[in-house]
Amino acid sequence: MKKFFEILRYLSPYKGRIALNLSFNLLNAAFSVVSFSAIVPFLKILFDSQEDRVSDDPAMGNGMLDKLNHSFEVIIREEGPKEALFVFSLLIVALFLLRNIFRYLAQHQMAFLRNVAVRDIRREIYHKLLVLPMAYYTDERKGQIMARFTNDVSEVEWSVMGALEALFRQPVMILIFLITLLGISWQLTIFVLIVLPVSGFIIGRIGKSLKRTAKKGQNELGEVVTSLEETVGGIRIVKGFTAEKIFARHFNKVNDKHFGLMVRLFRKQYLTSPIGETLSAITIAMILWFGGNLVLEGDVLNGEFFILYVVIFSQMISPARALSESFVRVQRGLSASERIDQVLKADEQILEAPGAKSIKGFKKSIAFKNVTFDYGGEAVLKNINLEVQQGESIALVGPSGGGKSTLVDLMPRFYDVIDGSIEIDGQDIRDFKVYELRGLFGIVSQQSILFNDSIRNNLLIGNEDADEKQLIDALHTANAHGFVISLPEGLDANVGEAGNRLSGGQKQRLSIARAILNDPPVMIFDEATSALDTESERLVQSALDRLMKGRTSFIIAHRLSTVQHVDRIVVIDKGEIVETGSHSELMELGGLYQRLVELQDLS
Ligand code: ADP
Repeated sequence: MKKFFEILRYLSPYKGRIALNLSFNLLNAAFSVVSFSAIVPFLKILFDSQEDRVSDDPAMGNGMLDKLNHSFEVIIREEGPKEALFVFSLLIVALFLLRNIFRYLAQHQMAFLRNVAVRDIRREIYHKLLVLPMAYYTDERKGQIMARFTNDVSEVEWSVMGALEALFRQPVMILIFLITLLGISWQLTIFVLIVLPVSGFIIGRIGKSLKRTAKKGQNELGEVVTSLEETVGGIRIVKGFTAEKIFARHFNKVNDKHFGLMVRLFRKQYLTSPIGETLSAITIAMILWFGGNLVLEGDVLNGEFFILYVVIFSQMISPARALSESFVRVQRGLSASERIDQVLKADEQILEAPGAKSIKGFKKSIAFKNVTFDYGGEAVLKNINLEVQQGESIALVGPSGGGKSTLVDLMPRFYDVIDGSIEIDGQDIRDFKVYELRGLFGIVSQQSILFNDSIRNNLLIGNEDADEKQLIDALHTANAHGFVISLPEGLDANVGEAGNRLSGGQKQRLSIARAILNDPPVMIFDEATSALDTESERLVQSALDRLMKGRTSFIIAHRLSTVQHVDRIVVIDKGEIVETGSHSELMELGGLYQRLVELQDLS
């Protein structure tokens, strides 16, 4: 129950609307009771029972009821039965109108409340995802995040918010109805409160047992399907071994088992209505018996109010049922909400030191000093020392899994070093403002990340303020201008989901154009051409060469032919720098690099 109220926290900013909703519910309930009460004067008129009551004015033991009774009688007497009939008919219309107006007003607020909570949860998760550290995003988690965002939020919406409706409305209804019932006859009400829970309990038990059988039925059906799948999948074997009989026997067994279970399930299901109805009839009969006796005894309850009692009582059943169902719903929503909380409460890691320095560019070098790193397990980088001068181009090569991507990910602080430090112009990168530090790096990776939007908007991510000329220039430099203008909508063409309306090479050239617009001092190419065919690779490579000019660049490349002209090649194996030098130096050295080049020449 405590957990449940925790879910209400999503609604805490909207207290005013909750108050409105509750007030309207209260008015709705009050007018419901009053409108039902309007049957009393009709009964009086039709059965003509007012005369004797007024004259001897018996004490019914209840001031309110007496007064109400009395005023009905006065109206009937003064107006005459036919006119009174008309007046009370009008009254009914007015009362029902009011009741429904308040009901709608309450729902008007509820429509807002239940949806705003879902909007806020989605917003909270999304913003959280933007600030979570890179380390949070393991492949396994990515799938989970999607599930949180879709299934779990919907579950919360369906269960909790649906239950909210019941919770804000039904208790108010039940309370008002109950007070009225007590007002009409407390004796009868106490009797009802004893009888009702018993029949409710029995009905609840039947429901539970039904659920269990239904679940078993599901499992059995699974077995039937599996048996079918196995046969179809292994049909060669079945026929080859002439094992049809064995398989048929097995299939018949599971199929019959499922059949038996389903028959039982349906029989149980069919039993619920008769039992439920009989139980209700017994309950009602007991109330009629007890209440009828009260009427006959004369001075506790009169006939009209007894009928009113039964009417209001019958109206109380459906809110009571809705309320109890909503508790079951809430249970399911709670587990979804707990899973959402795991995302919302995940550690954010504060990256920025207080008083962090500003950094717009650098003059001298980026240096790795004794850098060690792991993802929580074995060391991925060991004791890396590497100084890269401003304007220098560096290729990182070596067997895959050696730690090349990890090494470049450390510079924008997607991850932080475990030991050692990375310095820019002699200053530890952890001393800089993270946002500005990241702004120094432009990244083109193997997978070009395009968003489902126009080419123009995808480019503008690189530089929001770029004008048309800059866009066109960037496209030219990236060898992308030709194909973009050949599209009917040109720059405004939509790239499709994840850019899938374009070829791999086209996507990659757009990513490069975006990086050019961003104009960062350092470029990182992580296998930027690996996924391309030779023709696109040539186009992309020449775009890359232009982009690298005058910039510090880190190039991770699988195809060694593409990096022969860089200033320095760094060979990384098993987390360590094993060789450095130019292409010719390394070939001469005759180490790992030379072996890798020869392997690729062969292939
Ligand atoms: P390379 O770029 O040279 O192929 P990586 O830097 O991608 O190498 O990977 C180095 C090692 O770190 C590999 O063993 C890889 O499995 C591991 N690794 C890479 N990324 C992660 C991650 N996010 N979580 C855990 N381990 C990782």
